[in-house]
Amino acid sequence: MAKIFCVANQKGGVGKTTTTVNLAAGLAKLDQRVLLVDLDPQGNATMGAGINKAKLTASVYEVLLGMAEVASARQRSESGRFDVLPANRELAGAEVEMVALENRDKRLKDALALVSAEYDFILIDCPPALSMLTLNGLCAAHGVIIPMQCEYYALEGLSDLANTIKKVSVSLNPDLKIVGLLRVMFDPRMTLSQQVSDQLEQHFGDKVFKTVIPRNVRLAEAPSYGMPGVVFDPASKGAQAYIAFGAEMVDRIKLLGK
Ligand code: ATP
Ligand code: MG
Repeated sequence: MAKIFCVANQKGGVGKTTTTVNLAAGLAKLDQRVLLVDLDPQGNATMGAGINKAKLTASVYEVLLGMAEVASARQRSESGRFDVLPANRELAGAEVEMVALENRDKRLKDALALVSAEYDFILIDCPPALSMLTLNGLCAAHGVIIPMQCEYYALEGLSDLANTIKKVSVSLNPDLKIVGLLRVMFDPRMTLSQQVSDQLEQHFGDKVFKTVIPRNVRLAEAPSYGMPGVVFDPASKGAQAYIAFGAEMVDRIKLLGK
């Protein structure tokens, strides 16, 4: 059965999608079977994996509403060598439409259960909100990966997210754990980055991933070519960091006893 991870942070633009897409491709390079679930109506992970969000026949929207199965809605990212359950702006409607449905916070979990055996990892790219969509992601997952920039305000939102995760684990999904905090867009020349990074290590210990993702323009350029950064320019510092992060995740899974 796949290990399922949400990439979540309610703060916008902190590197969730970049992390999800590049971790998926990094794990694929390590011969892991990966499904990426785009749970954001922006559809950025879908596009970043090289799939045209304007031309979807089925998406995670239909899956959440019970109108399609994952097996028929998923597509292949040829560049990334992983599967994608894509999304586009239609998904924004699901928030409201799911309210009337039974088991509304576990719809993604139930849908993924049918394909879980086909994958080693399922990675869920969450939207920048603690919404019903994110709740579906958290209910489906074994763990949460939290990307964060090492800046002063990064720590502020963290307690809201940690509280939400705690509530979900108490009432809805006892499996759920924070797997780790991932430092992204790191700039070693900034003293503040280094200070916040050190503070994170002091406070959160081994909940902070060893891998640090540097700020690297190749990662930002890659989506416009419909490719994960690790495929677009594998030698770049950003790509190398995400490949190392993939290896760190594989190691963590082994420690968890799979
Ligand atoms: P949203 O909350 O809108 O979903 P997000 O948290 O998914 O945003 P991304 O879309 O991954 O964040 O990243 C925000 C912007 O920062 C993008 O333009 C992306 O290309 C850029 N970016 C992300 N990581 C890096 C990095 N390590 N180096 C340089 N640019 C980066
Ligand atoms: Mg995003």
